[in-house]
Amino acid sequence: MTRSEGSTAPLAGGALPSASRAGVPSPAIVVRDLRKRFGRREALAGLQFSVPEGAVAGFLGPNGAGKTTTLRLLLGLAPADAGEMEILGVGMPAHRTAVLEQVGALVEKPSFLDHFSGFDNLWWFGSLNRPVTRERVMEVLARTGLAEAAGQAFGTYSTGMKQRLGVAYAILHRPRLLILDEPTNGMDPQGRVQMRDLLREIHAAEGATIFLSSHLLDEVQRLCDYVVIVDHGRTVREGYVADILQRGRETWEVRVADGQAERAAALLPSLPGVLACRPGPRGFEISLEPGRSGLVNQALIGAGLTVTALIPKEASLEETFLALTDNGGDPA
Ligand code: ATP
Repeated sequence: MTRSEGSTAPLAGGALPSASRAGVPSPAIVVRDLRKRFGRREALAGLQFSVPEGAVAGFLGPNGAGKTTTLRLLLGLAPADAGEMEILGVGMPAHRTAVLEQVGALVEKPSFLDHFSGFDNLWWFGSLNRPVTRERVMEVLARTGLAEAAGQAFGTYSTGMKQRLGVAYAILHRPRLLILDEPTNGMDPQGRVQMRDLLREIHAAEGATIFLSSHLLDEVQRLCDYVVIVDHGRTVREGYVADILQRGRETWEVRVADGQAERAAALLPSLPGVLACRPGPRGFEISLEPGRSGLVNQALIGAGLTVTALIPKEASLEETFLALTDNGGDPA
């Protein structure tokens, strides 16, 4: 009999420390110098990061960067070779039982019993270790959009419904921290949007910190307020998404009059403050040091070009990701 991996374990009580002191959010997760080898392969090479309590945090990295391995070690599903981990202020895996009482997780594919209904799977597995009420099972089914499919056999669920049942199971016992490995894996675009909306709603309604791995930049940017970017088993950047996006560069679209594109292409890369210039759909996209767009405009006009538009583009995680990871060429 199998079930969603990383699900909450049998429990022995033990109150965990309160998360925040004097209004300063303390970390929900801390990882220090985490190391893990598989034979000669170093999956984690001294990973460090911390996730603030209350955040919706994305764990972003190319395939093979070490995301799943990290989540498995955090949940005590595999042993680390070295390093320290804390969840909700308590050392892992030493205090695994008490800690996991407060954690809901969905790591890898949810595997419930095919011939059981969605309701029966949650009821059966959810009450193995702790009491759960039928009302709470129905509540999480409703929250995950599965109320109508509650009586339907799990084996007949679509990929998206299966993932949502996994999330329903993970939130069943009202965790303080939700750890999800690629929650939109295998879903179509519509399913992804639904899952994003669902996670936002869970964050707002249930108040849990969410830590989710993904290799989809767009998804992390839309959903998360904090991000940890990893590559080759190391953290290459972490922080609030807003801070990361503002750091260092702006993106602008520049359009010039017909017949002037060649001259603009020659001039733009040489202007002070221009970090990169590439052809865009209707002109050029330039990466700029912050606050330089006026000077670029002046320089183009000074060179006799007619600037028909200079448009700020919404900052994206993509540039940061591509700059920081080897495998960034294939982020999606
Ligand atoms: P993906 O997005 O593809 O799931 P990931 O960032 O989750 O990637 P991991 O699955 O943690 O990456 O894998 C990190 C590295 O460790 C990879 O090179 C992988 O092949 C290797 N690895 C992971 N688990 C094992 C295992 N059980 N045995 C051998 N190698 C493993």
